[in-house]
Amino acid sequence: MEIKINMEPNVYLDNNATTRISQRVLDTMMPYLTDKFGNPSTLYYLGQEAKEAIESSRQKIVDVIGCSNKEIFFTSGATESDNWILRGIYNYNRLRNKKSHIIISSIEHHAVLNTCKVLEKEGLEVTFLSVDKFGKVSIEDLKKSIKNETVLVSIMASNNETGIIEPIEDIGNFLCDYNKTREKNGLDKIYFHSDVVQAFGKILIDVNKFNIDSMSFSGHKIYGPKGIGALYLKQGTRIYPFMTGGGQEFFKRAGTENVASIVGLGEAMSFFNKKTISDLNNKYSFMREKLWNGLKEKIRDVYLNTDFQNSVSNTLNVSFKNVEGEGIVLLLNKKGVSVSSGSACTSGSLDISHVLKAMGVNSVLAQGSIRFSFGKYNKEEDVDYVLEVLPPIVEKLRSMSPLYK
Ligand code: PLP
Repeated sequence: MEIKINMEPNVYLDNNATTRISQRVLDTMMPYLTDKFGNPSTLYYLGQEAKEAIESSRQKIVDVIGCSNKEIFFTSGATESDNWILRGIYNYNRLRNKKSHIIISSIEHHAVLNTCKVLEKEGLEVTFLSVDKFGKVSIEDLKKSIKNETVLVSIMASNNETGIIEPIEDIGNFLCDYNKTREKNGLDKIYFHSDVVQAFGKILIDVNKFNIDSMSFSGHKIYGPKGIGALYLKQGTRIYPFMTGGGQEFFKRAGTENVASIVGLGEAMSFFNKKTISDLNNKYSFMREKLWNGLKEKIRDVYLNTDFQNSVSNTLNVSFKNVEGEGIVLLLNKKGVSVSSGSACTSGSLDISHVLKAMGVNSVLAQGSIRFSFGKYNKEEDVDYVLEVLPPIVEKLRSMSPLYK
C-alpha cells in the first residue's frame, strides 16, 4: 500500500515542535503496520521478522552515534527517556538508602525540569544552574555546585526555544577527569546525561567525543513518527528499569515493542551524516539570516533572543515589543503560517517562557516572543512570504496596544 504525503498546504516554520514525516520513513514503516505484524517476542517467522526489523533499526542508530547495540533502548519518546534517567538513577540510590543530588540547567525542557521538581518533593536535592543572557550554562558554576551526593548532571545539548548550544563536550570532558578523583576518594561516579533532541540532525552527535553516559532522542523532531524515541545508556550505568514487565529491551524497558515506529526511528536517524547535516546547516543559516535581516528592516522594535554564533542554525527566536506573541501566532495562522510563541495564555494571564525568563529577557519582550524553526522542507519562498505577511500583523496588533506609541 502506498500513501503519498501532501507537501503543499502551508508555510510550516515550527520544526522544533514537530516535523513532517519523510516519505522514505513512512515507506519503511508501512509493512510493519500491515503485513509484517508479528510480535517480536514470538518464535515463528512473523515474530522473528519483526525482531530482525527492530535489531536492524538499533544497528542504524548505533552506526550514527557510535555506541554499541546493547546501549540503545527504544522508548515512547524523549520525555520517557529523560524521565527514565532521572527517576532511574534517583530510585537506584534511594533503594540503597543513599541521598541523591542532581544538577540541571534552568532552561531544560519540561521533561527534565518538571520531573526534577516532582522528585524534589520525594527527597531528591536539585540544583538548577542559572544561565547567561544567551542561555548558556557556565562550567565554573557547575563545578561549584557539585557535592559528595551528586549523582547526575543533566544538561541539554541545544535548547528548543532559542537554539542555544550548551558546552556539553566540555562538561563531558570535565566530568570524566573529575570522576577519576572522586573514585580515588571513594565517592560515586557522577553520570552525565544530555537531552539531545534538538541538537540531533543539526550538530554531529558522537558519544565517545562527548564523554556522555546517556542521551535522549525523539523521532518526531527528525522526520520520523511521534510516540517513539530512544535512550542511549552507557553499559554499566547503575539505573533502575523504567518499565517492568516482560523481558523486552534487555529487561530494562518492558512492553511489546512499537515495531513500525522503531523501524521509522532508525530510518529517520540514519538520514543524518556529516554531509546531510552540513547541507542542511547551510540552508538553515541562509534562511535564518534572511528572515532576521528582513524583520529588522521592516519592523521597528524587534529584538533577537537567539545567539547566532552559538546556536543550532534552524532556530530564530525574536521578540516584538508591546505585542503578544500568541496574537501573532493566531494571525499568522490565518495566513497559513505556523510558528510558536514563547508565552501562553492560561486563565487570563500570560505565562512567560521559563527559558527567556532565565536569560533575563524582560517580561514585556518575553511576552512578544516568536520562535521560527526551519526544517528540511522549507524553501526561501517561505521566508519571503513571512516577510510579506508579518509586518502588517505586528502593525495591526500594536495599533490596538495601549502600551505602544
Ligand atoms: N526534550 C526536548 C529538548 C524537546 O524539544 C522535546 C519536545 O518538545 C522533548 C524533550 C520531548 O520529546 P517527546 O515529544 O519525544 O516526548
